[in-house]
Amino acid sequence: MITIIRNAKVYQPEYAGAKDVMLIGSQIGVLGENLKADLGGAVPVKEIDGTGLILIPGLIDGHEHIMGGGGEGGFHTRTPEAGLTDLTMNGVTTVVGCIGTDGVARNMEALLAKAHALEEEGVTTYVYTGSYQVPVHTVTGDVMRDIMLLDKVIGVGEIAISDHRSSQPTFEEFVRIASDIRVGGMLSGKAGIVNVHMGDGSRMMDFIWRAVRETEIPFSQFLPTHIGRNAALFESALEFAKAGGTIDFTGSLDDDDAVPVHRGIPRLLDAGVSDDHFTISSDGQGSLPIFNDKGEFQGLGVGNASCLLKELRELVNRAGLPMELALKPLTANPARILKLNRKGRILPGYDGDLCLLCENDLSLHTVIAKGQLMVSEGRPVVKGTFDL
Ligand code: ZN
Repeated sequence: MITIIRNAKVYQPEYAGAKDVMLIGSQIGVLGENLKADLGGAVPVKEIDGTGLILIPGLIDGHEHIMGGGGEGGFHTRTPEAGLTDLTMNGVTTVVGCIGTDGVARNMEALLAKAHALEEEGVTTYVYTGSYQVPVHTVTGDVMRDIMLLDKVIGVGEIAISDHRSSQPTFEEFVRIASDIRVGGMLSGKAGIVNVHMGDGSRMMDFIWRAVRETEIPFSQFLPTHIGRNAALFESALEFAKAGGTIDFTGSLDDDDAVPVHRGIPRLLDAGVSDDHFTISSDGQGSLPIFNDKGEFQGLGVGNASCLLKELRELVNRAGLPMELALKPLTANPARILKLNRKGRILPGYDGDLCLLCENDLSLHTVIAKGQLMVSEGRPVVKGTFDL
C-alpha cells in the first residue's frame, strides 16, 4: 500500500513548507513536490488531499494508564481501560502504558497483555515495568531482567515519591531501582528511564536531586512527571531542567494550584531551559475529580488523551508559541528521550505515524498509524475490538 498526502503544510516538527508526503507500507518514504507512484496497479495507491491541513507527527503519549488506573475512592472507582479510539481519535499513535496507584489488582502481566492488544489493533505501544510501590512489581522478578528480556519494557515507573499514596521508599531503594534500570537499558539498547510520579509532598524532587548529586547516575535517567502539580514543584522542576534534566507535564492538570502547560512551557523557555528538555503526557485513564462552578465535588471522571491536542492548541493560541516549538514536547522530544527510534518526526525511514489537523482550528482531521488510515475526516475508520 502506498499513501500520498498532497499539499499539506508539513511540520516535521520543523516547518518544511507545503509538501507531498508518500508512505510506503508502514513507513514514510519520500517528502517532495508532485510525487507520483506508478507501479502499474500492482500496489494500491491512496491519495489524501491535504489542502488547508497541517501534517504533524503522530502524538506520543509517554504516560498513560492504558489498562485503567486510579481507584482511590474504592473499588467502584477503578477506571476503565483505554480503547483504541481513545488514542487514535485524540491523535495518539504511540503510547507508553504504566500501572498507577493500584499495583495489586492491576499487574504487569495484564499491562503487557493490554499493550499487545492495542498494538494488534494498530498503534505502537510500550510499557514501564514496576509500580507506584517499592519494592516494585515486575514480570521476571527484577527490573533489569524485565527491560532486557521483554521487548515492550523501556523503563520503570511510575515510581511514586513525595506523595501520601507512595510506599515511602528509602533513598537507597530509589537509587537501586534507577541504577538497575539504567544498566538494563544500556545492555538492551533502550532508554532505561525512571518515570517518577511527583506528589505534592514537601520533599518534592529531593530524591532525584540527591541521586544526580550523590551518585554517578546522570540527569538523563530520570523523567519526573506531574511537575505542574503546584507552583513550588514546578520551580524545582524548572531548576532540574535548567541543570540538564528532562521533565514531563501532565496535560490534564488544571486545578487552582497547578501550573498548566500553556503557562509552564513559556516560563521554562524564558528561564533558558532548552526546548529539548520537556515533554507532555496525558496520564490518561486515571481518575479525575469533577467539581462544579462553586468548587463542590461532583464525582469522578476519567482522564484521557484528548488533553494532548488541547494543550497543543493552547500553546499555539494562548501562549503564542510557534507550531514547530509547541509540537516538540508531544512528538520529537518524547521519541528522543524514550529512545523510540523512527518515531516523532516526519522523515524518510521513520514510521508512518501522522496526523492531519485543520489549519484554522487545529481540530483532528486524519490519523495514520504505521501507514494505516485510522481516522478520516474526524471519524474512526478502524475501531478497537470492543469500541462501539
Ligand atoms: Zn502519577
